[in-house]
Amino acid sequence: MTEKDNEKDKLISTDGVSRRSFLGKTSAALAAVASLPILAAAQQQTKDLSGDTHTGVNERELGPKNPALEAQEPDSVYPPETDAGGQPPFKYPFAMAHKRIEAGGWTRQVTVRDFPLSKKMAGVEMRLISGGVRELHWHLSAEWAYMTAGSARITAVDQKGRAFVDDVKEGDLWLFPGGVPHSIQGLGEDGCQFLLVFSDGNFNEFETFLLTDWLHHTPKEVLAKNFNVPQSTFDNVPPRERFIFPTQLPRPLAEEKKQVYEANGPVPNTFAFFTDKMQPTKVTAGGSVKIVDRNNFPPTDIAAAIVTVRPGGMREMHWHPNADEWQYYVKGTARMTVFSAGGHARTMDFHPGDVGYIDQSLPHYIENIGDTDLLFLEVFPTPEYQDISLGEWLAHTPSRLVNEHIGTGEDFLAKISRTEVVIVPEK
Ligand code: MN
Ligand code: MN
Repeated sequence: MTEKDNEKDKLISTDGVSRRSFLGKTSAALAAVASLPILAAAQQQTKDLSGDTHTGVNERELGPKNPALEAQEPDSVYPPETDAGGQPPFKYPFAMAHKRIEAGGWTRQVTVRDFPLSKKMAGVEMRLISGGVRELHWHLSAEWAYMTAGSARITAVDQKGRAFVDDVKEGDLWLFPGGVPHSIQGLGEDGCQFLLVFSDGNFNEFETFLLTDWLHHTPKEVLAKNFNVPQSTFDNVPPRERFIFPTQLPRPLAEEKKQVYEANGPVPNTFAFFTDKMQPTKVTAGGSVKIVDRNNFPPTDIAAAIVTVRPGGMREMHWHPNADEWQYYVKGTARMTVFSAGGHARTMDFHPGDVGYIDQSLPHYIENIGDTDLLFLEVFPTPEYQDISLGEWLAHTPSRLVNEHIGTGEDFLAKISRTEVVIVPEK
């Protein structure tokens, strides 16, 4: 497609008439539409940021329709005029994922098998009832986690036999390096829910190395020989995996710490990260961000930004030069446009439980389009967080040169913040 064709694609839909100015240009059509049964309900369900009312006869939908779904996707039903080309969809809702329900809780996952764009990362949502245990297990990939509700006890053992056990609550994180065995147990009156993120798009939570599965698939005489005990010791090993199962609440944390630290002590760098003990990396009038990467959480090889955007605020236009971005929406409503080279741009809407994915170096913004705070996570399969914003790019390039490209005048360029704003407005 030539640049000229792209322009055409953006501005013109039929007969050389701008799609959005169709009514304005033909008063006859306006009169005709006014007397037609316009699909007003559908239009009221869409929140239009451009002020366009979408009453053009060319924009009517004659059906079939899915009004509930369309109401959640206003930027797909009526894309901004700046959208163009074949940018593939970059969202998958957890609400569409298969849910495995067990007596101790449930889990569901979004991997590259569900979401083709998500090549380098995958995510899992899990709920554990009070006392419910995600069975002792390990996997190849590192596991980065974010608690979304309740509290949990987490355990792990490293390659030197050093132990980790701690309790985490809503907003806290953990990181289990690849190959390190671990467990999670719901605490309190109603257990917990959390998000797991893996630096492998092909990850599969339903096929991890489980303690019960391994022992069940080992001859009993080998188990007996391994520990020099009678075979009967293993009579109660279950004939199938436990995976997620209900059991009693754990003993007091101090008691369990004391027991597991015996001989080798604790892991040198804790696998838990308590976000409420960290000051925000940046605060503006538009919101705040906490960046958690190897600089403040040494075990991690997965970097993350926890972003809060106030109503009307926006995570500014930027890209990440070093990694793909995996997103998870926790609270609020957003829209995001992803631009890619060759004039491709698409805008999609995001709701709690949605996953977003942006290939390395593709620029994007995330706008809070709701009436409440937007909380979302940016997660990267790399130890160090990096980004470049449009603002800092233009602010640190000769203003003469930038002005020759975009004709804004140099006064505008002189006023751009010299430090990265991250979330606009700055003041
Ligand atoms: Mn795991
Ligand atoms: Mn980003």
